[in-house]
Amino acid sequence: MELKSCKRCKALFQYYSGKVMCTNCKQADDDYFLIVKEFLRDNPSASAEMINSETDVPVKIIKEFIKEGRLEISDKSPLAVDCERCGKKSTTGRICPACKSEIAMELNSTNKNLKSSQKQLKPAEHKGMRSKH
Ligand SMILES: [Zn+2]
Ligand SMILES: [Zn+2]
Repeated sequence: MELKSCKRCKALFQYYSGKVMCTNCKQADDDYFLIVKEFLRDNPSASAEMINSETDVPVKIIKEFIKEGRLEISDKSPLAVDCERCGKKSTTGRICPACKSEIAMELNSTNKNLKSSQKQLKPAEHKGMRSKH
C-alpha cells in the first residue's frame, strides 16, 4: 500500500489500484458518470457544455469520461475527441475504432514475425555449426 495524492481533490489517501483518486472522489466520479450517461441517452447530440448546464457535472470531468472511452457516444455527437493516432473524430476514446483494429493487427503481425524469425533462427544456427565442422 502506498500513500498517494488524489488527482482530483489532492487529499492523501491509501492507494490500492486503478485511478489515483480517493474513495470520495471515486464515488463522486461514478455518480457523475451515471448522470452523464443517462443524460446522453436522452440527448445523444448534447455537447459537453450543454450537459454541464443541465446536470452541473464539470466539463473537465465529462471530457475525461470521453477520453477514457467510458461513455457511449453517438456518431453525431459533438463530444467526439480527436484520435491520437490519425486525428479523425473518435467516439470511443483516445483512439478511433479503425486505429484500434489496426493497432491490434499490427500487434498480431509483430508477434507472428517474432515467432517466425525465431523459427528461422534455429535452422540457421544448425547450419552454422555444421559448416564449422
Ligand atoms: Zn479526492
Ligand atoms: Zn484513428
